[in-house]
Amino acid sequence: MEPVGLYIHTPFCLAKCPYCDFYSLPLGTPLQAEAALDRYTDGLLSAMERWAQRLPLQADTLYFGGGTPALLGGSRLETIIRRAGELFELFGAAPEITLEANPADDLADTLAAFAAAGGNRLSLGMQSAHPRELTLLGRRHTPADVTRTVGDARRAGMDNISLDVMLGIAGQTAATACQSVERAADLGATHLSAYLLKLEPDTPYGHCPPPLPEEDETAELYLAAMERAEALGYGQYEISNAALPGRKSRHNLKYWDSRPYLGLGPAASSCLAGHRFTYPRDIEHFLAGGDPVEDPDEGIGVGTPEEYALLRLRLTAGLSAAEYAARFGTELPAAWRRHAEALPASLVTADEAGIRLTREGFLLSNTLISHIIDE
Ligand code: SF4
Repeated sequence: MEPVGLYIHTPFCLAKCPYCDFYSLPLGTPLQAEAALDRYTDGLLSAMERWAQRLPLQADTLYFGGGTPALLGGSRLETIIRRAGELFELFGAAPEITLEANPADDLADTLAAFAAAGGNRLSLGMQSAHPRELTLLGRRHTPADVTRTVGDARRAGMDNISLDVMLGIAGQTAATACQSVERAADLGATHLSAYLLKLEPDTPYGHCPPPLPEEDETAELYLAAMERAEALGYGQYEISNAALPGRKSRHNLKYWDSRPYLGLGPAASSCLAGHRFTYPRDIEHFLAGGDPVEDPDEGIGVGTPEEYALLRLRLTAGLSAAEYAARFGTELPAAWRRHAEALPASLVTADEAGIRLTREGFLLSNTLISHIIDE
């Protein structure tokens, strides 16, 4: 089997952001936090051992996501990375090892230990360069915290830094969105992720929505931010992601390229050996050694042409006719081409090379992709 991407979820945050529906829990007092993080690290190590016994897996990327995985601290991160190296031959493959972090936290020691253990990429939740927008998002950090944390990462020897920018905040304008992108570039980010703020049910924002921009205003923010990023040298390669040359996220590309990945931790998903499965959103289930559960069948099977198209059309490279033929031994379905050609060229491009969504098309990606691969 080809090397997998190993994802490790850490389901803890010091405070819950009002828009976030990721699985994360409060940590309690400092004493309770240390005990919870130790117990969780033991649970992760046990899960890694079980998977290594089940399947002879190799990994070439390791991604610590959350929640706030940097809360694990340097020593626990080092232990997990070392064990992943032993069990999954991680260091045989010049791995990409990413840590998500919240700039509100003092991370100098954690980042130094993470880098010393082989960590080489930081994904930081900057969200905005504007204090007012950060307040509206309920974030704990300031723009100065982002500057400090990026400096800490550089001093630790990490130069591959991804910054998140949130789009669709109340009162945000194309000018302020672009200023956030420019600030990320000034800080030396190698990668940008620009996410649209969504009202998720069962979140404070879902229950009591703030006055968000209208759909067309949000579209304008997205187009302006992505164009600004491009002008600054960040090539868009996915709906929400843009990178300097050679700095795309190797781990995240596995998701869109239909490559195998193994996710550990409550709410973590995997795609392995022809199956998609997810651990329940229940930390006690995970810590008791419980298994993940097969994902519900939503009509598109794992490894099918439809699933491949669904994922590839999220990328600017789109659905390549040559890559499709190499993978499935047949041409792109004529119906898909027909459906794509019938859509406005401002949204979808269809030619000999394949089918691609334009940047404007990405704003309607779910509808357009369903339309293209419809029977
Ligand atoms: S820090 Fe990140 S994971 Fe935690 S609540 Fe906020 S957005 Fe969600």
